[in-house]
Amino acid sequence: MPDYVLKATAGNGQIRVFAATTGGLVETARRLHQTSPVVTQALGRLLTAGSLMGSMMKNADELITLKIAGDGPLSGLLVTADAKGNVKGYPYVNDLSDTLESPIPVSDAIGEGALNILKDIGLKDPYVGYSPLISGELAEDLTYYYAQSEQIPTSVSLGVLLNDDGTVRQAGGFIIQLMPDTDDEVIDALEEALSHAPSLTRLLDEGKTLETIMDDLFKDLNLKVSKTEITRFICDCSRQRITKALISIGKKDLIEMISDQEDIEVNCDFCKEKYSFSPEDLQNILDHLDAPEKEG
Ligand SMILES: [Zn+2]
Repeated sequence: MPDYVLKATAGNGQIRVFAATTGGLVETARRLHQTSPVVTQALGRLLTAGSLMGSMMKNADELITLKIAGDGPLSGLLVTADAKGNVKGYPYVNDLSDTLESPIPVSDAIGEGALNILKDIGLKDPYVGYSPLISGELAEDLTYYYAQSEQIPTSVSLGVLLNDDGTVRQAGGFIIQLMPDTDDEVIDALEEALSHAPSLTRLLDEGKTLETIMDDLFKDLNLKVSKTEITRFICDCSRQRITKALISIGKKDLIEMISDQEDIEVNCDFCKEKYSFSPEDLQNILDHLDAPEKEG
């Protein structure tokens, strides 16, 4: 079963529901970045948030970037998602030498810091949201972000379940939001339901589908599924993009690299794909860099 996001409403349309199962894509990320357990947990949670928040966007060409920066040993994480279920991300540090036997809490790895959210909705300036981390466990931090920055009452759950060898067994999460002016009875029923909500990844591990899990959760609130959508870890890097990144380091450094007369290798941050550039390639980039300036 591939990873997917389920979109639904409940409580006569007064509750918006987004739920995702993301074990496959989180395992892909773990394999690419060779993360230790706590880093897999943190990155998996943020990737799941990316899948969910990407699917919440209205326009097909929108992009969302979630950036966590903290003063803990993990330092930070970055995740980008589009509205079509594609998500990618990386940790700033991939291995904290932690083990499953003596786990580090995600909040200790991240430390104190902030969550930044960038929404590129095709306008000149992207929307930027910011909130301090209140727990560092990520789900509560997103709940706080929604309350502070977007004034939307939201419940967020994000989870990653690991196998004994550190590979990903299950991952998933949900974002549940109240529409403005929701009836008090609906709010009470939702709070009641959420207070008994068991762990999503445990239920997935029992073989339950998102549909069944959400149906059970909203049993008195009449869940209506509107859409399901595949979500996956995909990187859209290319030689062209990496070349742009090389240009951004500046002429002086490029000239220095060329004078070293050695091939250089650049890894994509998101997927670790290797791109190799010979001194001739670098000279070519430099020549093109000069061309527009001469014209101007
Ligand atoms: Zn890549």
